[in-house]
Amino acid sequence: MDYSIARRRMVAQHVVARGIHDEELIHVMEELPRHLFVEEALQSQAYTDYALPIGEKQTISQPYMVAIMTQSLELKRSDRVLEIGTGSGYQAAVLSRLVTHVYSVERIANLARRARRVLDKIGCSNVHIQVCDGTSGWGEQAPFDAIVVTAGAPDIPQHYLQQLEIGGRLVIPVGGSGAQILKRVTRVSENHFDYEDILECRFVPLIGKHGWSQTS
Ligand code: SAM
Repeated sequence: MDYSIARRRMVAQHVVARGIHDEELIHVMEELPRHLFVEEALQSQAYTDYALPIGEKQTISQPYMVAIMTQSLELKRSDRVLEIGTGSGYQAAVLSRLVTHVYSVERIANLARRARRVLDKIGCSNVHIQVCDGTSGWGEQAPFDAIVVTAGAPDIPQHYLQQLEIGGRLVIPVGGSGAQILKRVTRVSENHFDYEDILECRFVPLIGKHGWSQTS
């Protein structure tokens, strides 16, 4: 099945028409085979603007959300980026085409394994995946130029702020378990951070030591 027309339509209608202007990101989303990141029965829906189930009660984020989060990171080619919540691997694949190194953490081993397979298949060898609770970041690989959290946190975990380079950007959904505000935090200096609200959003919960507890 050739999905290239559906993919271009998705980018035109749900990404560019909604204000995404980063040319390189737009090009990456036009090229990246998003349907490979969902199971076969859902592949025909991969280019709609919805989050879709990927098993384990988790989702692949909607294309617009991936686009706005990525654009908000203001990436440079040489950046090292940390993603929390590998999920399907789609966001990691987008990042991998824009920067040198992507470090991605996923707490559910099955999802990480599946994501790794797809990322290998399409040649994203600069994505490094670790299976663990990502609410403490990835200390051994820090600092990062950018951090993107693709699950909703009750508060901003301190580790993420500490693991940002000066000038680094963190994009994270923060709020209740049902709805959050997507925030961007910029580390202006050692102890000074700028906070901005980007938009309202709905993410699955960030579960872990510095996030939601499994049962909440
Ligand atoms: N970025 C993903 C993609 O492109 O498909 C979407 C991620 S999905 C909305 C959120 C993911 O965060 C889930 O796979 C979930 O298991 C993961 N997650 C939740 N809490 C986590 C934690 N503490 N550490 C690592 N991953 C976590």
